[in-house]
Amino acid sequence: SRADAGGQLPNPQALPPRVLAIAVPSPLRRLFDYRPCREMPACGWQPGLRVRISFGRRQIVGVVIECRDQSELPLADLKPVEACLDSAPLPADWLWLCHFTARYYQHPLGDTLHQALPVLLRQGRPLEARMRERWQANSNAPDNDPPTLARAHRQAELLTMLRQHPHGLVTQAIVAQSFTREQLKSLLAKGLVTRREEALTAQPKSDSTHLLAEPPLPLTSEQTTVLAALHEKLDHYHPCLLDGVTGSGKTEVYLQLIEAVVRRGRQALVLVPEIGLTPQTLARFRARFQVQVVALHSGLTEHERLDAWEAAASGRAPIIIGTRSAIFTPLARPGAIIVDEEHDGSFKQQDGLRYHARDLAVARAHRHGIPLVLGSATPSLESLARARSGDWRHLQLTRRASRHAPALLELVDLRGRPRQGGLIPPVIDTIRDTLTAGHQVLVFINRRGFAPTLACHACGWLAECDHCDARMTLHRTPPLLACHHCDRRRALPESCPECGSIDLRPLGSGTERTEETLAGLFPKVPVHRIDRDSTRRRDALEQVLGEVKRGEPCLLVGTQMLAKGHHLPHVTLVVVVNADAGLYASDFRALEQTSQLLVQVAGRAGRAAHPGRVLVQTLHSDDPHLRLLAEQGYAALATHLLEERRAAGLPPFRFMALLRLESPREEQVSELAAQAADALREWLSTRKLAVDCLGPVPAPMERRQNRYHLQLMLASDKRSRLHEAGAWLTGWLAASPDARRVRWSLDIDPQTL
Ligand code: ADP
Ligand code: ZN
Ligand code: ZN
Repeated sequence: SRADAGGQLPNPQALPPRVLAIAVPSPLRRLFDYRPCREMPACGWQPGLRVRISFGRRQIVGVVIECRDQSELPLADLKPVEACLDSAPLPADWLWLCHFTARYYQHPLGDTLHQALPVLLRQGRPLEARMRERWQANSNAPDNDPPTLARAHRQAELLTMLRQHPHGLVTQAIVAQSFTREQLKSLLAKGLVTRREEALTAQPKSDSTHLLAEPPLPLTSEQTTVLAALHEKLDHYHPCLLDGVTGSGKTEVYLQLIEAVVRRGRQALVLVPEIGLTPQTLARFRARFQVQVVALHSGLTEHERLDAWEAAASGRAPIIIGTRSAIFTPLARPGAIIVDEEHDGSFKQQDGLRYHARDLAVARAHRHGIPLVLGSATPSLESLARARSGDWRHLQLTRRASRHAPALLELVDLRGRPRQGGLIPPVIDTIRDTLTAGHQVLVFINRRGFAPTLACHACGWLAECDHCDARMTLHRTPPLLACHHCDRRRALPESCPECGSIDLRPLGSGTERTEETLAGLFPKVPVHRIDRDSTRRRDALEQVLGEVKRGEPCLLVGTQMLAKGHHLPHVTLVVVVNADAGLYASDFRALEQTSQLLVQVAGRAGRAAHPGRVLVQTLHSDDPHLRLLAEQGYAALATHLLEERRAAGLPPFRFMALLRLESPREEQVSELAAQAADALREWLSTRKLAVDCLGPVPAPMERRQNRYHLQLMLASDKRSRLHEAGAWLTGWLAASPDARRVRWSLDIDPQTL
């Protein structure tokens, strides 16, 4: 019940507290004191209650954090809260997670709570199970049409319909037959029908024989071993890295773990990457279980989101699956947390509250004392290091459930070869052979648009964005130049703005150009392009994937939307147009991310009856990292990268935080950054605190959306020291008058520089 979820029963003898310290959604790093209002909530005043307060000139919703008897202000100066919005505090596990998140990421508590609540709760809507109405004809109503309906034909018809349904009908079903609420209300007023309210979400079936809608798959021997290890410790914190090659049946392991969790009357929370929560994935979970599978994705209405939150908080929803923000879903009876594709970048929020959902999952599982499964074919170096050190359990699936092992990467040297739409002749020949054999081909190119930019062949001018240090991408459908960093658009110039020449040509290839080339080369074969532009319509991706599932030969051209997660049984050839972008990037994670992406794309090939091939085009076919990946695989490259990180003193061997500063005025941001760095260095040296402070330096793209970006890096061997320094720095910035004109944030464990 809600009471065990955190509330204590009020002690009738206790006096109400004199002061409520309240967190409000504001960048200010403090609580605000108010007096309780006269009307005490049923549970008494407690942390976790939402209240409406007047704050400045606005009315806002805040959350009670402490009940005290003292304030730094005279009690008479405190305003009373306007109203308490809850009859019981928000769930205790959720409140704990918000406190933890605010502390760990050094983010204001009020804003953290705000971000972690569904929009309707932020706005002050009550949290209660949403109800629906069921209408029944009264049994004592006369059988023939009562006189009160003599001139109300539709009402009479409605009554007749209800009589045919002894268990009644819900409003939606009635309205679907073109009756109105007004007609229902009239019948109610005439005493001819009754109305009952029932909870919208079904009660869980206590009888667990009806848990499954389909039988589980018989496990492979590796899956059996993994599942046995998970079953050993269902009542303990048990962090596991499920390190399993693409197609090895990790999802089947999740499904059977969830089954065990739900049979014990507990809930399972499953996090998937942003592009992972497709109807395909969801269908797989829903096909297995008869109990409700609540999905939290961007397509929900705010009402649906609130329902899902409530169903999870009350314990009625046994299985919750969602993207990053679903980590903030309260659970009445937590039983396990699963993070699929744990290496995926979308688990890290890149603005505002910069949390990492995987890392919060670790904290949550520890707090609840439950198993945590982090699954991936290409684990992050952080997780791999913890698993290899024995900190976490390292569970492995080395073989595919199907016949064929994942294909090795074949490097194809691009140097000195003519290209068509980015592809060289021998690769085009292999594509032709594959299509002729009746199979499907996936061409991966991590650039949407027609070409990365437009160039003048007379003078070398390149189309650049006025607002960013970046080139504008050339698009064909519709024709325009677009900046992918600030979304600025421009019409195509007819001649070069520098020299007037009309010899303007696309430089390089994007998805549109490769699609066009392939359509020209293979006119009889359908070419499907999949990127953010082609899938703006919600169901576009599903539609294409549905068609691809039917198995006719076809070409798929796409960005990383296509690279992850999808099961494409008829694809036997994967072509990577260019592997080079991440090989020499300045970001120390670039190689890790590039190799993860390559392995994930490669994993789409040969997942069913026929073996697969993966051709990787590159200008650097003798690059040692790329060769190691191609010849020995991801685990070997990861070992090597971890050694490099250790030698360079980089995560996961040291801890890092990044202060990001930005402003439209370059001198404002550089002055503040320099002052902050000086102040921090002085404080570090007087405290003799071993934290390195590097910079300030310009961010990799210094000018973005016409704002200047600088950063200061903090690094330490000890997380506690890093946090101490970060806390001091945010305190200094919060107090600095100059910092008000500059937007700044501290990024703990940054994923990109
Ligand atoms: P992963 O999540 O590791 O990429 P999946 O769970 O998607 O792998 O499994 C890949 C394919 O193998 C799926 O089609 C799945 O149905 C099938 N599969 C998984 N486990 C088994 C099993 N034990 N027996 C037969 N097929 C299996
Ligand atoms: Zn020119
Ligand atoms: Zn731009």
